[in-house]
Amino acid sequence: MYIIILGAPGAGKGTQAACIARELSLTHVASGDLFRQAVERGDKLGSSVKDYMNKGMLVPDEITIQMILERMSAADCRDGVILDGFPRNLRQAEALDKAFERKNSVIDWAIYIEVPDEELVRRLSGRWICRSCQTPYHSLSSPPKEQGKCELCGGTLYQRPDDSAETVKKRLKVYFTETMPVIEYYRQQGKLLEVDGKGGVDVVTDRILNALRKREFIAQ
Ligand code: AMP
Repeated sequence: MYIIILGAPGAGKGTQAACIARELSLTHVASGDLFRQAVERGDKLGSSVKDYMNKGMLVPDEITIQMILERMSAADCRDGVILDGFPRNLRQAEALDKAFERKNSVIDWAIYIEVPDEELVRRLSGRWICRSCQTPYHSLSSPPKEQGKCELCGGTLYQRPDDSAETVKKRLKVYFTETMPVIEYYRQQGKLLEVDGKGGVDVVTDRILNALRKREFIAQ
C-alpha cells in the first residue's frame, strides 16, 4: 500500500500522515523531517540543504530524490508507506513513478488536503513542533497544557525557522508554482482523492479514511 499526501504548507499533511500511518500500519516518510534531522545532525546532507530550507526554497531534485528513494528501500518500507512532502514537483513525481516501475509496483492513491489560503497562513504562524516526536501544536487552536512542552513525550517545543512570515510567503509561492502541477499529474492518472482539510484533526482523518473506503481500498 503506497499513499502520497499532498497539500500546501500548513494544510496538515504531517499530522494527517501520522494518523493515517497509525490507522493503516504504514511507515510515515516525510521529506521535510528527514532534511530537518540531517540539519540537526550537522552532516553533509544537512549542510547542503540548510540554506534552501531557511529561504523557503525547494532542495535540488537530485539530493531530494536520492534521499527519498534510499529511505524507501529500507526494510520498514516494504509493506507500505505514506509519503509526506514528496513529490513536490513534476520531476520528482516522474522519478518516483520510474522507481516504482522498476520494482513492478505502483502508487495507489494521492490524497490532496484542501485548505483555504488565509487559513494556511494562520495555521503556519502559530505553529509549534515537538523536537523529539514532531507532534505539532498551535498557540491558538491547540496549545500544549504546559507551555513549551510536548504533552505526548515531554519533549521541547520549537518554532521552525522557515515558519517566519517572510519565508511562509515564499513557501506558499513555491507551492503554487511547483507543486500544484503534481496534483494535476495524479488527477490525470485517476489516483487523486480530494479531501476537505478544514476542521479538527479527527474530522479530517475520518474524511481521508472514508475516501479510501469508498474506493474499497480499505475495509468498511
Ligand atoms: P516541509 O516540512 O515538508 O514543509 O519541508 C520543509 C522544507 O524542506 C521545504 O520548504 C524544502 O526546503 C525542503 N523540502 C521538503 N521536501 C522537499 C521536496 N520534496 N523537494 C524539495 N525540497 C523539499
